[in-house]
Amino acid sequence: MKETMTPPQTPKSHRFGATRFPVAAVAAAALLTLSAGGAAVSAAPVEQTPVPAAPPPQAGSSQRTQPVAPPPDPDSALAAAVKRGATMEEIARLRDPIARTPAEAIRALKAGNARFYGGVARRPEMSANERRAQILSQTPFAVVLGCADSRVPTEIVYDQGLGSLFVVRVAGNVVDPGSAGSVEYAVRHLKSHVVVVTGHEGCGAVSAAMLPAEEQNREPANVRYLLNRIRPAVAGLAPLRDRKAQMREAVIANVRLQVHRMKQNPVIAEAIKSGQIAVIGAFYEISSGAVDFLETDAELRLTPDELRRAANVEDRPTSAGAAAAEKEPHAGEHRH
Ligand SMILES: [Zn+2]
Repeated sequence: MKETMTPPQTPKSHRFGATRFPVAAVAAAALLTLSAGGAAVSAAPVEQTPVPAAPPPQAGSSQRTQPVAPPPDPDSALAAAVKRGATMEEIARLRDPIARTPAEAIRALKAGNARFYGGVARRPEMSANERRAQILSQTPFAVVLGCADSRVPTEIVYDQGLGSLFVVRVAGNVVDPGSAGSVEYAVRHLKSHVVVVTGHEGCGAVSAAMLPAEEQNREPANVRYLLNRIRPAVAGLAPLRDRKAQMREAVIANVRLQVHRMKQNPVIAEAIKSGQIAVIGAFYEISSGAVDFLETDAELRLTPDELRRAANVEDRPTSAGAAAAEKEPHAGEHRH
């Protein structure tokens, strides 16, 4: 996979799309070869840049960062090891962790998104040897709970490569037993350093949760189940004349609600208390490619009304139809 550095350009001219995902297929093929007994670890050409160096520090919690494309480091120990055809174990040991603390993890995500929206995405996809070394373990530095929306592919938006993000995607980025269980696993066993609930501009799930009850009740039971988990966030929003501003407000209100739920999870709460992780929110603007982060207590705090709804009205059905859906919330495994 060729990687090129281009000068900053407008976000609309990104070179993403179909070229991105065949890489995953290639990696899968490499693993298949491996599991089928293939041992020619050093046979593949070595032309890829090494694992990215730590991103530059960024100031200001919620400010967008400047696009930065750090130069590759051809002199790193990892690059040298890959060149001489090191074993998978050596490569795994030499791989530099992208982040060791919540603050470093947040900086790495900000730097990655800045590269993406600035048109200088690095698309770190690793060499063949590094990909094969991944079979030994995974150490994703961040967990992202995002929406299933096709326009919000997490690794691309944050410009992160294989093995860096543990991604959970479900319409409306809702916290429920399934999504929370995935996050618990990553936090407890993979030692990730940040959990980011990422909402996005133009979220259909959030829009649907704002529709009149009759319309919501025409949706299938599992969709109503998801809408029920979003509704407490959007039920009390003051109407705005600007529809775009209204939707942004609604999506961010939903991000705040899901962050709140995440923080109430005992496994997550314990990891926050120990300093292992931070739980933050984010808003991805489809039209620009930029992510705004919600990190401070002030940015994430629920209003007393929102807290009351989250505690008392949470998941309350709006009709007999929704009530039926709530009685068996886990029926059916399919996701949208
Ligand atoms: Zn969405």
